[in-house]
Amino acid sequence: MSTYKENHYRSLDDADAFWTEQAARIDWVKPFSNVCDFSTPPFAHWFVDGETNLCFNAIDRHLATRAHQNALVWVSSEVEQTRTYTYRQLWEEVNCFAAVLKSIGVGKGDRVLIYMPMIPEAVFAMLATVRIGAIHSVVFGGFAAASLAARIDDAKPRVMITADAGSRAGKIIPLKPLTDESISLAEHPPKHVVIVNRHLDKSMQTLPGRDMDYAALAPRHKGEVVPCEWVESSHPSYILYTSGTTGKPKGVQRDTGGYTVALASSMQTIFATQPGESFFCTSDIGWVVGHSYIVYGPLINGSTTVMYEGLPIRPDPGIWWKLVEQYGVVAMFSSPTAVRVLKKQDVGYLTKYDTSTLRYLYLAGEPLDQPTSDWIEKGVGVKVIDNYWQTETGWPILSAQPGIEETPRKLGSPSFPVYGYNVKLKHEETGAAVSANEKGVLCIVPPLPPGCMSTIWGDDARFVKTYFGMFRDEQVYTTFDWATRDADGYYFIMGRTDDVINVAGHRLGTREIEEAIQAHKNIAEVAVVGVADSLKGQVPIAFAVVKDHRQVENAELAARQEKEVMATVDHELGAIGRPARVHFVTALPKTRSGKLLRRVIQALCESRDPGDLTTIEDPTALEQVRNAVQ
Ligand code: AMP
Repeated sequence: MSTYKENHYRSLDDADAFWTEQAARIDWVKPFSNVCDFSTPPFAHWFVDGETNLCFNAIDRHLATRAHQNALVWVSSEVEQTRTYTYRQLWEEVNCFAAVLKSIGVGKGDRVLIYMPMIPEAVFAMLATVRIGAIHSVVFGGFAAASLAARIDDAKPRVMITADAGSRAGKIIPLKPLTDESISLAEHPPKHVVIVNRHLDKSMQTLPGRDMDYAALAPRHKGEVVPCEWVESSHPSYILYTSGTTGKPKGVQRDTGGYTVALASSMQTIFATQPGESFFCTSDIGWVVGHSYIVYGPLINGSTTVMYEGLPIRPDPGIWWKLVEQYGVVAMFSSPTAVRVLKKQDVGYLTKYDTSTLRYLYLAGEPLDQPTSDWIEKGVGVKVIDNYWQTETGWPILSAQPGIEETPRKLGSPSFPVYGYNVKLKHEETGAAVSANEKGVLCIVPPLPPGCMSTIWGDDARFVKTYFGMFRDEQVYTTFDWATRDADGYYFIMGRTDDVINVAGHRLGTREIEEAIQAHKNIAEVAVVGVADSLKGQVPIAFAVVKDHRQVENAELAARQEKEVMATVDHELGAIGRPARVHFVTALPKTRSGKLLRRVIQALCESRDPGDLTTIEDPTALEQVRNAVQ
């Protein structure tokens, strides 16, 4: 057993030997000839020539020893159902789904867009796609038709898989009408739409020829065995869209071999979970955490994954802990926002169930505040581990690694760099290394380790420019997060360097929200900023200049207009991007060169000192913001 430090050092100093050992955690049908080809930086090609399959590693290879062990436990408090699948049963379901996909012409390299609620069929669809060498793109069910259409046009899927509806707090959320609308907006519509009909939305319409009912297709393919398509390590397994500073989302492209190795390794080193044990991740399959730690990580590891559809407070705030007791969960993965939701409930629920199996609770996605961390750690009697990562990396960048060594934790810190990540804090302008406790941009010296994004789907140039273009003299990956490192080597994340905000652990580009708002006919100009919020971490607040001022001339009209603008965002982007407030002003604070002073607006919203205001063009614009937030 080495210490985390020795392990980290070796992963960089003797990378080939280190990653060769890690690669032995998964099954390869053809061994790799080269651990990492970094001859065309910043592109890293891990495990060159090695052939494998993600689905094979997640299911097939466990059949000899775990056929009768639960692979997937699905509990829905929305529809009050529980379904369990052993590895053997999961294998059968995935084979059937793969056969259906093949029967409608999906083959290696084709894209499959999955727009689904948290149901087992979503997991079958993901695994079936990678089984046949196709590439999935899961879009979170909360995104609206226009966002979906943009993703369709970028990924150009052959097939879309959806459901009639999801359910949230007992309310039916139709998905099929949004699917239809997105397809009508898209320039590259899919040939077919496969629908998993849950019979929640009785008014669902279908289009004969294009739409296909999974329940009708599946019986025709039941019992079929679809061989795994062996793919070269760098073959894309999926595309997952994430927000950036421009309105156009970026398609994070993931490889196959590196990702499988990184997840296999992280399950044991970071998440300290053994094969046969149960793991519960409360995220959604639409986010990277759901991809890595609801679906692939636990299954590659031979664990049981617990998947939950519902809110953490329904039917009561003890539901998570009930699942921990029922399924003997050893490690849980959630977000600070979800814990803050529980914190508003009766603390007695934390001890109502026997959670003694639970060793660690991992929280990620946004800064973890001390009161939240303390409250849950003491209440449940579980060690909280803060871990920091991004959609781009696919697995943690900074985390304690209790599977390697139990290191003391410091509140507010996601501890240390994970092995394989050569993390550096750099001065924003000069790129020089910053000293202890000094704020710098968190960067990773390439090659990025296995599992991280290979490129932006269809846009290598954007990948290089966006992520590796911050410093003139050195090509390093930028996370766009501020951080400090203390004298003991612990890192602290201080927020974003760019105009990206983090709402309840989900990244949203302020540009994206602004573009959605501009779709409202009376909006001339708008600025969106992220403002600190005690529950969600941050919420978007908009300041809008209207074309026709008469429509906001009194409080009643302004309130109506505000509602309309919010509805526009719901329609254009999805409710997850809806601003918490829309204030109407006649001018926005800008510099004399016309640059929007977002940081000034944000400071005013958070009652902070806005700093130097000498460059401002129109001081009355600032006054308007100040008055609005008061
Ligand atoms: P996403 O790709 O949507 O998961 O968002 C990634 C971003 O969330 C990071 O760049 C950080 O800004 C933020 N983030 C993720 N994990 C943490 C954490 N443990 N502490 C602070 N911020 C975090």
